Amino acid sequence: MRVLVLTGAGVSAESGIPTFRGKDGYWRNLDPTKLATPEAFARDPQLVWDWYRERRQGIRNARPNAAHEAIARLAHQTEEFLLVTQNVDDLHARAGVAAEKMVQIHGDIFVTRCTRCEFSYPGRGGSPEPPGTCVVQPTNERLRSIAATSERDLNIPTCPKCQAFMRPSVVWFGEQLSQGELLRVEDFLDGGACDVVIVAGTTATFGYIIDWALRGSRDGAELVEVNPEETPLSRFATRLMREPAAIALPRIVDEVLV
Ligand SMILES: [Zn+2]
Repeated sequence: MRVLVLTGAGVSAESGIPTFRGKDGYWRNLDPTKLATPEAFARDPQLVWDWYRERRQGIRNARPNAAHEAIARLAHQTEEFLLVTQNVDDLHARAGVAAEKMVQIHGDIFVTRCTRCEFSYPGRGGSPEPPGTCVVQPTNERLRSIAATSERDLNIPTCPKCQAFMRPSVVWFGEQLSQGELLRVEDFLDGGACDVVIVAGTTATFGYIIDWALRGSRDGAELVEVNPEETPLSRFATRLMREPAAIALPRIVDEVLV
């Protein structure tokens, strides 16, 4: 049995992690699609870090739901399995999907990496903020003005190797996906057609999600879409489950594992 699972924000939304789209995603009246950008970080790294620290804490307080647990069961009980998730949280890992069976294509929110060199603090969901986190003195005019106008300390982690600012190791809008992670997906797809492909909780707005789903399900595999809404992938699916992931996934996994 060879299985590919693709997941998106809808799977974590049922654990209370707000999605980027829609009112719930707004933070301090700011649009997350504008905060999760290299431009926003260059303009106001403190603001972007404040947002990510809150998101990290929200994720630490959340628990995997029935969808995460069903996918972990599938990962354990199939010979060849890959989960590709757009989610940067650690809920799939906490449900028990091993790192080697999972690709976080948009990065890992708990990893903090240098903006200049290769240094990073590894992410562990429950861990405290990295030790590099410290209050730094505003080093240039722009940051001094941020500190002055907002009357707040600059609290941005700096790299212990090169002193550059550090950032969350996630893929922001307008950035490239990691070549290493892309290769892991390609290797799996090259390894043979799947028996089942499940796409859950993603609006499939990124072309690569559709591409992987179609390549994984070549040669007649079942392509299951789990999403309460119609998506660009829906017309290719051989089975549509118009339900929340936490309802549909335990059922579809039971069927696959029969
Ligand atoms: Zn560095």
